[in-house]
Amino acid sequence: MSFSQLGLSESLQRGVANQGYANPYPIQDQAIPAILAGRDVLGIARTGSGKTASFVLPILEKLQAFTVTKKQPVRVLVVVPTRELAAQVAEVFQAFGDYVMRGVKTVAVFGGVSIAPQLAAVRGADVLVATPGRLLDLVAQKALKLSSVSILVLDEADKMLDLGFADEMKQVFDLLPTARQTILFSATLGDGVKAMGEQTLRDPLTIDI
Ligand code: AMP
Repeated sequence: MSFSQLGLSESLQRGVANQGYANPYPIQDQAIPAILAGRDVLGIARTGSGKTASFVLPILEKLQAFTVTKKQPVRVLVVVPTRELAAQVAEVFQAFGDYVMRGVKTVAVFGGVSIAPQLAAVRGADVLVATPGRLLDLVAQKALKLSSVSILVLDEADKMLDLGFADEMKQVFDLLPTARQTILFSATLGDGVKAMGEQTLRDPLTIDI
C-alpha cells in the first residue's frame, strides 16, 4: 500500500513525503481509510508503530473538508495521559497541518504549569490535545465547551487508567456529544481499556498490530 492509495489529498501526501515517510506503516494502512470513512477505531498499538500519524492524517483530511466561514469551537479533542505526549501529538498535528489549505490551529494543554495562558490559548483552537485533569479545569473555568467536538481520540488509554484518570475520563465523556467519531489507542487491551471502549466506541474496527 502507498499513501496515495489511502484516500489522502495531494497536499497531505506532499506533507508525508516531506516528512520522509516512504510508505505507510501497517497501522496506518488500516486506520487511515477507516477513520476517513467515519468509523470508530480501537487500535492496539505501541509508541513507535506510527499510531500518531494514523489518526492525525485522516483527521486533518476531514478538517480540510469543512468550509469555515467563522471561527468554530473545538472540533477535535485528543485526550492523552502526560504532558510529554500532549506536546508530541500537537507537534505532529502542527507539522502536517501546515499542508492543509486553510491552516489548522492546534493547542496543547496539560497540568503542572499555570492555567492562565491556557485560558486564552484554547480560544479558536480546531484541535485540542489535553490531559484529563487540566481539560476539566478549563471547562470548569468556562474557557471552553466540549459540545462541538465531533472527533474524540483517546491516546494511550491504558496509561491513562494506570495514572488514575478513570474518574476524570468519565466526566469528560459526559461532556461530549454522543454523535461523534471516537478513536481509542492503547498499548494493551486489559479489562479497564475494554470497559472504556464499550463505553465510548460504536461498532469499532479493531486493529491489533
Ligand atoms: P509513533 O508511533 O506515532 O510515536 O511514531 C513513531 C515514529 O515513526 C515517529 O518518529 C514518526 O515520525 C515515524 N513514522 C510514522 N509513520 C511513518 C512512516 N509511514 N514512515 C516512516 N516513519 C514514520
